[in-house]
Amino acid sequence: MNDCIFCKIMKGEIPSEKVYEDDDVFVIRDIDPKAEKHYLMIPKRHYKTIAEMTDDDAAALIRGLRRIPGLVDRLGLSGGYRLVINQGDDAGQTVFHLHVHILGGQPLDFPDLRK
Ligand code: AMP
Ligand code: ZN
Repeated sequence: MNDCIFCKIMKGEIPSEKVYEDDDVFVIRDIDPKAEKHYLMIPKRHYKTIAEMTDDDAAALIRGLRRIPGLVDRLGLSGGYRLVINQGDDAGQTVFHLHVHILGGQPLDFPDLRK
């Protein structure tokens, strides 16, 4: 947990562009954006995956997600957005502190990933 990059960002040990914070979650700009607008919503409590989530974690994450509609104008997401949670190797999860990607700022295609 001490080596977790998102825990370090939360504690201010690694710089980030924080765009929102409350008791449950914080939202930063992704350092390597995959869309015109790419943010990460990160629960403040460290857990790796949905499999590790407690009922309290689930409630906290839902509270966080329900803040997003109130942020869309400020974050440039008023045209819509996509939420992605990568879980495990096939999904390419690289940071094992659960986080929700928030992607938007442009029309988002939905590629056939089998190709
Ligand atoms: P995932 O591959 O789903 O685990 O997503 C991890 C995300 O964290 C990637 O989109 C990275 O670009 C992003 N990321 C890694 N380090 C940082 C950082 N220091 N600040 C902001 N985003 C980061
Ligand atoms: Zn962490």
